[in-house]
Amino acid sequence: MDKLEEIKEQCRKCEFCELHKTRTNIVFSDGSQNAKILLIGEAPGENEDLQGVPFVGRAGKLLDTYLEDAGLSRQKDLYIANIVKCRPPKNRVPSKEEKQACKHFLEEQILEVNPKLILLCGTTSMSEYIKGAKITDVHGKIFDISVGGKIFKAMPILHPSPLCRFKNKKEVMVEDLKHAKSFF
Ligand code: URA
Repeated sequence: MDKLEEIKEQCRKCEFCELHKTRTNIVFSDGSQNAKILLIGEAPGENEDLQGVPFVGRAGKLLDTYLEDAGLSRQKDLYIANIVKCRPPKNRVPSKEEKQACKHFLEEQILEVNPKLILLCGTTSMSEYIKGAKITDVHGKIFDISVGGKIFKAMPILHPSPLCRFKNKKEVMVEDLKHAKSFF
């Protein structure tokens, strides 16, 4: 079994926080473990919980169109994960304790995939690694972040959720994703 499968197996058995009680499936990752870009979302929603795959609901469908427009392949160019692996009830934002309990899984994923660029998708994801920033000010910019003692390049991007009503969101996201693609 490879390292990521081992981590996924541990995640399947995880009972570190209350979210395990209400999950249908853990939502570990999608895409390629050889990808140069690792995208981190917030948490699984209803469809993700049912299918065990990140970004397959409405936000995921929007993300897919933005990736396509930017010339990126979800399956080849990206590895997709979330801050927490189990769905928070009613899609609420995960609590500090839930994020903390789940963080080691994400950090192990990042170290194992070793991406050239991390996309911090939405405020919850960005705030874990870049403190005090507003996503509307810093999306598309490159930051150095520390994960498990290693420095990675990271770019905050808007969240594709229909609830994120940023003006010209589609154009802004496609431009940021093109910037990410041209980064390496
Ligand atoms: N939103 C996220 O942040 N992650 C998902 O997997 C789905 C929706």
